[in-house]
Amino acid sequence: MELTGRCYCGQVKYKATGDAMMKAQCHCRECQYMTGGGPNLFIAMPKEGFEYTQGEPAKFTRDDIENPVTREFCPNCGTHLITDPPGFPAVIVKVGTLDDPSVLEKPDMAIFMIDAQPFHEVPEGVATFDRFPG
Ligand SMILES: [Zn+2]
Ligand SMILES: [Zn+2]
Repeated sequence: MELTGRCYCGQVKYKATGDAMMKAQCHCRECQYMTGGGPNLFIAMPKEGFEYTQGEPAKFTRDDIENPVTREFCPNCGTHLITDPPGFPAVIVKVGTLDDPSVLEKPDMAIFMIDAQPFHEVPEGVATFDRFPG
């Protein structure tokens, strides 16, 4: 599949090609900051098939936790586009930034339920995990 997407203001655009490695919603406390409080919906795409086609993102990596992810976002409008997890061959593409978010269809799993809020919902039939599976 080939996915294309952009930030809210359109300054940064990307393309992700390859087979989706994971479709999920993440309930972790960190994601709640980025989403405004809900779970974060994402598609994991192979790192080698991901490229920015316009603009350059700003990047942020926490220095106060172990194995922090790097979050990449538009320096102009602040939209979070992807997360780059260390030691994982995929980039985490935020579904809301896709030109066609409906390609998600449905997440395969809900992860980091340990941080889920009482108002978070998981669609019927979606597997749940306390943390990252495996
Ligand atoms: Zn932007
Ligand atoms: Zn998360």
